[in-house]
Amino acid sequence: MSRQVLYGWGRTAPSAATVVEPQSAHDVTAHLHTSTAAIARGLGRSYGDAAQLAGGLVMVNRELGGISPVNPRGEVTVGAGVSIDELIRECLPQGWFVPVTPGTRQVTVGGAIAADVHGKNHHVDGSFGHHLISMELVTPTGTFTVSPTSRPELFWATVGGMGLTGVVVEATLRMLPVETDRVLVDTQRFKDLDSVMSEMLSGDHRYRYSVAWVDCMTRGASMGRAILTRGDHARRDQVEAPTLLPPRGSRITVPFDAPSGLLNPATIRLFNEAWYRAAPKSKVAQPQGIGSFFHPLDGVTAWNRLYGRRGFVQYQFAVPDSAGDAVRQSIETLSNSKVPSFLAVLKRFGEGTPGGLSFPMPGWTLALDLPVGPAALPQVLNDLDDIVLAAGGRVYLAKDSRLEAHKAHAMYPRLHEFATTCQEIDPQGILSSDLARRLQLIRK
Ligand SMILES: Cc1cc2nc3c(=O)[nH]c(=O)nc-3n(C[C@H](O)[C@H](O)[C@H](O)COP(=O)(O)OP(=O)(O)OC[C@H]3O[C@@H](n4cnc5c(N)ncnc54)[C@H](O)[C@@H]3O)c2cc1C
Repeated sequence: MSRQVLYGWGRTAPSAATVVEPQSAHDVTAHLHTSTAAIARGLGRSYGDAAQLAGGLVMVNRELGGISPVNPRGEVTVGAGVSIDELIRECLPQGWFVPVTPGTRQVTVGGAIAADVHGKNHHVDGSFGHHLISMELVTPTGTFTVSPTSRPELFWATVGGMGLTGVVVEATLRMLPVETDRVLVDTQRFKDLDSVMSEMLSGDHRYRYSVAWVDCMTRGASMGRAILTRGDHARRDQVEAPTLLPPRGSRITVPFDAPSGLLNPATIRLFNEAWYRAAPKSKVAQPQGIGSFFHPLDGVTAWNRLYGRRGFVQYQFAVPDSAGDAVRQSIETLSNSKVPSFLAVLKRFGEGTPGGLSFPMPGWTLALDLPVGPAALPQVLNDLDDIVLAAGGRVYLAKDSRLEAHKAHAMYPRLHEFATTCQEIDPQGILSSDLARRLQLIRK
């Protein structure tokens, strides 16, 4: 047990809490019985304040380990503290891959469930929660095994529930069979936003994975120019000397905070330009490793230090297909502002999960990395909120550290259903977080 200052990955909203590492479901129960305010934490890869609780108890899940053998149907039972990296290392050599992976392998299964993470395959495979068979959940009122058929309302509130329904200690999920450790990738460069969006609309259904990197620093005719990469796992007969090797670990570490201001409009513009030019105009069926295709940022440990002590905001939103123009408006807002942005990530979404805090909706999602510092940033973010709200969209809570409560309530109109489930399972309101307090997710 120790007192620690905790941050999210964006390092913008620190707070101090008592930190413990429960070893078992029994330990979690004991902590919930003796504290007045508690929340689970995984590897701290949510960007904002979801996995911290000022003055409360933060239960780091990493000791909740264990990976069962994968059965012939691809089902595996894992401790909630196991990371996606560890799961891939264990299962890929046996021909099984995680059904959904976010842009980093350094997240825990517990964190992946609580944020209901999505990958580049949401338009085909949905989010992490769609592949869960069951989980063991410790709550202040008891320990339950929940699934889509056993206490479904609690199961779906926990999927995407940001840790507010209890602590997941173990989960059983269905893995994806793969024949190799390669992905065959098609790459195309597009001169503007309209052309890449129209290609994604008409062609993404042909690919399991799809993502576009969009340059938000260009204006005029080349506003939103983009690189689109799409692909699927290679079969054995599609690559020379097929293997099933886990991805390599990171080889570079950022040892200290970069000076604030290193990432400014000029340097980011240069980076975006180089990235765009380095991509082939068009390339088909290029074999890429799991690491470079899914988790390119994992090659550099602690890369968030490049943003300096002030940190950065990741702003991710989803909007329905009928409001695709909101993507254009957001990128226009950014490119006309003095706020620099690294290449934004644009993806297609399919259906969300049934829980009241589910983020995805059929349509578009855009994620922006914005360094803290420019005076215009708060206003630009407020303008983006307005665009998203007017479009009937929502901001991703796993990345948020600054949204206002009334906006969150408008973006998540079924929040009251979620809050009702939380109140049933936790009548004394023990489970909480800085995020939940700021956004009044559970009204007391
Ligand atoms: C480089 C990078 C790329 C990313 N790319 C994506 C992406 O493509 N798609 C995407 O969806 N997300 C993405 N994310 C966000 C990340 O996947 C989520 O924030 C994820 O929840 C982080 O997992 P974690 O183990 O670090 O959890 P933390 O950040 O520590 O916690 C996140 C939430 O999970 C809860 N939690 C943790 N463990 C448990 C548990 N055992 N039981 C109940 N609740 C628990 C916490 O209370 C908190 O609310 C990315 C993050 C980074 C840094």
